[in-house]
Amino acid sequence: MKRKYGLLGIITALLISVFVGYSFKANTVAAKTKALKPIIIQGPMPIEAEKFASKLKNVKVEKSGSFVFYKGTLDHYPVVVTKTGKGMENTAAATAVAIEKYKPVAIINQGTSGGHDSNLNVFDIVLGKRTTNIGSLKTGSKDENQGMDPTVWKPMDLMASEGSAGEDPNAEKPRYYEGNKNLLAVANAVKSKYTAGKVVEGTIGSADVWNNEVDRIKWFHTNYGTSVEEMEGAAAAQIAQAYNVPFLGIRVLSNNKTNGGKYNPNSAEACQEYVFEVVKKYIATEPTK
Ligand code: SAH
Repeated sequence: MKRKYGLLGIITALLISVFVGYSFKANTVAAKTKALKPIIIQGPMPIEAEKFASKLKNVKVEKSGSFVFYKGTLDHYPVVVTKTGKGMENTAAATAVAIEKYKPVAIINQGTSGGHDSNLNVFDIVLGKRTTNIGSLKTGSKDENQGMDPTVWKPMDLMASEGSAGEDPNAEKPRYYEGNKNLLAVANAVKSKYTAGKVVEGTIGSADVWNNEVDRIKWFHTNYGTSVEEMEGAAAAQIAQAYNVPFLGIRVLSNNKTNGGKYNPNSAEACQEYVFEVVKKYIATEPTK
């Protein structure tokens, strides 16, 4: 009898310690996940954000203004997918709000784009070695009835000085935001996982403009070295730089006027699948940040 109770006692004690051990481990994983700084993945349109958001675990949806933050985990690491809305203003604001709210370790801005390089086809992906604002321009000086001539417009760097950009000759050049080297290396390391097209490094140009004039597209390609254009990347890059947060733009070609590549919205999903691989690799290689 005595012996039986002894055995029962030992088994009970063992069960309790295993249970306590498990819940302690679960709590530490949760606590660690909470303590880690999240990675932010931005997408402008629903088709550019929701696929990625649906791949996260433990998702909590938070909103701020018109911006939607899908706060979840990927391989126990915190990831916040942001649906920013289209365009530079939405993106700049959504980036600043996200940085203040979530203190991210890195930001990836991704989605669709239009080709500026005839060697790139719909479904190819550009990793933004550089991102630049192609809507910040200074026109030539002309009087009334002298017309307009966009071919002589000059790039205008709003970050060149605190003085007047319109008067500052040093501001007559594009401002390039460099893609973060670690993020670029990680993105390059998973290139082979993307089979819908090729993945190349390049320059992403952004403005609240959709250029459909091939000569104008060529002008940007020549003067800014743009590989693609879209409406968000440079806004996110500028704000990320202001807060010193590592940033990378990743853009799939959904259209390319320079070689007749027709708009294909399915490219948005393909891009998210690739970015998912990039984020998984980043988490595996930089786990303790
Ligand atoms: N055809 C879509 C386009 C959306 S607006 C519609 O009518 O709803 C443009 C969005 O697609 C922006 O978020 C921008 O980043 C991206 N984009 C794709 N191709 C583009 C291009 N050629 N020029 C500018 N933005 C482009």
